[in-house]
Amino acid sequence: MSGATLLKETGPREVFCGLTSIVWLHRRMPDAFFLVVGSRTCAHLIQSAAGVMIFAEPRFGTAILEERDLAGLADAHDELDRVVNNLLERRPEIRTLFLVGSCPSEVIKIDLSRVAEKLNHQLKGKVRVVNYSGSGIETTFTQGEDGALKALVPLMPPSENSQLLLVGTLANAVEDRLITIFKRLGIEKITSFPPRQSTELPSVGPGTKVLLTQPYLTDTARALRDKGAEIIKAPFPLGVEGSRLWIEAAANSFGVDNSLVQTTLEPLIIRARKAIKPYKEILNGKKLFLLPESQLEIPLARFLYMECGMELVEIGTPYLNREMMDPEINLLPENTRIVEGQHVEKQLDRVREKHPDLVVCGMGLANPLEAEGISTKWSIEMVFSPIHGIDQASDLAELFARPLKRHDLLSSKQFAKF
Ligand code: SF4
Repeated sequence: MSGATLLKETGPREVFCGLTSIVWLHRRMPDAFFLVVGSRTCAHLIQSAAGVMIFAEPRFGTAILEERDLAGLADAHDELDRVVNNLLERRPEIRTLFLVGSCPSEVIKIDLSRVAEKLNHQLKGKVRVVNYSGSGIETTFTQGEDGALKALVPLMPPSENSQLLLVGTLANAVEDRLITIFKRLGIEKITSFPPRQSTELPSVGPGTKVLLTQPYLTDTARALRDKGAEIIKAPFPLGVEGSRLWIEAAANSFGVDNSLVQTTLEPLIIRARKAIKPYKEILNGKKLFLLPESQLEIPLARFLYMECGMELVEIGTPYLNREMMDPEINLLPENTRIVEGQHVEKQLDRVREKHPDLVVCGMGLANPLEAEGISTKWSIEMVFSPIHGIDQASDLAELFARPLKRHDLLSSKQFAKF
C-alpha cells in the first residue's frame, strides 16, 4: 500500500448537484424521461447544463414546485400525479420515467417512492416509474448517476450465467472498443449498465463479474453485490496504465491466458504511449492541484503523475471509498496528500500558497483562479469527454495540456506588447 497521507476536511462546499448527471444519462437511454421534481432553479440548472433541443422533444423536464406547494397549501402529490399523467399521454414513446428528487422536494418531504409505487400500479407495466435523488444537499454531481443506477438494480432480471458486466455510463463508441477487446480475449458474454435502452436491463446474479468504469458508483456496486455479483478490484480505465490494469483484472477473473492479454494490448499500448508523448513534454514536472468535485480526481491524478510526469500537490475528493480506491491509491507516490471533503476557503488558501501550474476544479472556481494567473481545467469536462481506455489516453492528456499551452501563449503575447 502506498503511504499517501489521507486527511478529512469539512466546511463550505462548491460543487454541482446530482441533477447534472441527467445530461449524460438521458443521452444514454433515449427511451427514458427524467422528470425533476424541483424549483425554477433546478429547471434552469438542468436546462442550461443540457442545452435546449430545437429539433427534438426534450427527454427531461421539471415539475416545478410553486409557492403553494412549498407552503403546504396544495397537495404536491396530487399535482405531481396530474403532471405525470399529462406527460405520459402526450409522450407515449416514454418507456421508463425517472422521478428525480431535488433539494426543495426533499425539504418539503415529498415521498417520491410512494408516488412511483402508485404510478407503477396505475400504469400496469406500460411505463416503468423509478425514483432517485438528484439533490445537492451534501452530495456531488456524479452521485446522480449512482442514484439512478441503484434505483434500477432491483429491476434487473436474475441470472446465474457467467458474464462480464460493465457498470457506468461511457460514450457508446468507447464502450464498443472496450467490448471488442474483451471479445478478443475470449470473454463471450459482456453486458453494460446502464443499457442503451432503458427496457433492456442486463441480468445480474452469482455468475456476474462487475467491472466498474467509473469511480463514483459506490451504492450501485453495493446493490449489485447484494444480488450476488462479484466486484472486480482494479484501478479505473483512465490512461494507458489504468486501462491496462483494468483489462488485466477482468481477464484474470475469467482465467484468460496472460500471454493473450499481453499480445492483444501491446500494439494499442505502443501507439497510445507515442500519442501521449507531445503532451507529456508540456505536462512533465508541472505542479497539479485537484479540488474535489467529480470523484474522478484520484484516478486522474494517478494518470497525470504516472504517465505525464506531473507533480501532485494535493488531491481533493468529495468522498473516499477506500475499498474501491485502494488499487488507485497504491499507485500514487509516497506522501501524496489526499483530502476528503471540502472547506473551499481553506483549499483556495492552500492553492494560493502553493501556486500550482494547473488546478482542476469546478466551473465556479475556475474564473477567479484564472484571473489570479493560475491555469485551470473544469472537472465537469471529464464526464462529458470520451476519456476511457488505452486509445483515449492521449486525448485525456491533451485536455490537461491545453490550458497550460494557452497560458504560455497568452504570457508570450503579453511580453510581445511591451
Ligand atoms: S437540486 Fe438543489 S442544488 Fe440542484 S439545482 Fe435544485 S435546488 Fe439547486
